[in-house]
Amino acid sequence: MGTPFLDSLGRAVTYLRVSVTDRCDMRCVYCMAENMSFLPKAEILTYAELERLCAAFIRSGVTRLRVTGGEPLVRRDIGSFFQTMGQWLNRTGDGGHLDELTVTTNGSRLEEHADMLARSGVRRVNISLDSLDSEKFHRITRRGDLDRTLAGVRAARAAGLAIRINTVAMAGVNDDEFDTLLAWCGEIGADLCLIETMPMGETGEDRSDRYLPLSAVRADLSRRWTLEPLAERTGGGPARYLRVRETGRRLGLITPMTHNFCESCNRVRLSCTGQLYPCLGNEGATDLRQPLRDGASDADLLHLVQSALLRKPKGHDFVIGRRADDPAAIRRHMSVTGG
Ligand code: SAM
Ligand code: SF4
Repeated sequence: MGTPFLDSLGRAVTYLRVSVTDRCDMRCVYCMAENMSFLPKAEILTYAELERLCAAFIRSGVTRLRVTGGEPLVRRDIGSFFQTMGQWLNRTGDGGHLDELTVTTNGSRLEEHADMLARSGVRRVNISLDSLDSEKFHRITRRGDLDRTLAGVRAARAAGLAIRINTVAMAGVNDDEFDTLLAWCGEIGADLCLIETMPMGETGEDRSDRYLPLSAVRADLSRRWTLEPLAERTGGGPARYLRVRETGRRLGLITPMTHNFCESCNRVRLSCTGQLYPCLGNEGATDLRQPLRDGASDADLLHLVQSALLRKPKGHDFVIGRRADDPAAIRRHMSVTGG
């Protein structure tokens, strides 16, 4: 394996999140506008292009790959992509390998794809679910069906996949459900991860009054649950974990707003249009698609990637309450970059 990517602060980049589509069958209020328009197909990287770029990252030290979107499981023939990427798992030799292939999904297509994921070598899935109340679930996702997502959760369990439920914490929306979600995750043997709302892209909703600092949520949950801090940051992601003694499962907290996690960031993101974002919360990007389509060699691509990493910023630019038309606001939607 080549030398791992190091950014200008010496952070080794071993984790790539790749968005395979900007499309989605839901329109979550914090993520997309109701009348979201999607990119023309020609702008989206083909599977061959995605595989070539991912291979270049893996050969250079990326060992964890998370497939995301948009909703990754709505892209046609997504199974072939997982199958190809799964072939990097458990490889030996110095040509690069993956330790882990994971996916973040809204669960709507998991019932049909869980077995395919398991066969491709996926061991863990993150499933987004913000409410166990079907009406509220529909309101938040604008077109999601709770029963379908729950069927996806069951299929993932049946396929032997470890599950983390991702819940975006929203004041006045689902803050009355955290106890229920924690207990339910205990019952189904899943971890729960609460996420602070990040101000990304115009969604037609004001997110500032929905913002809920997770420090307060944690303090409140501690009155009813025994939460024991765990040292490790499993999976190389940004979540900090607590053990929930009553269920034996973990509670993760992703707190970009109250606790800036940038100092240990090992991640970069590849958008579905081939833009490499060294930081989710910063507009700086390097276009890899044009060089790729112009016939760049692997060595050329790697050089571009390395230069981009040197520009990985020290920290993100999110500020709650910043207006979407503020020149410093992050205009990109999470679905383009991949959450
Ligand atoms: N469609 C898939 C899903 O929902 O799991 C994968 C893509 S989605 C963009 C990835 C994650 O980002 C989801 O857990 C979602 O809840 C989260 N997310 C999207 N927009 C967000 C925002 N503005 N703030 C915090 N989390 C957000
Ligand atoms: Fe779709 Fe995921 Fe965004 Fe919801 S959070 S709109 S499911 S991409």
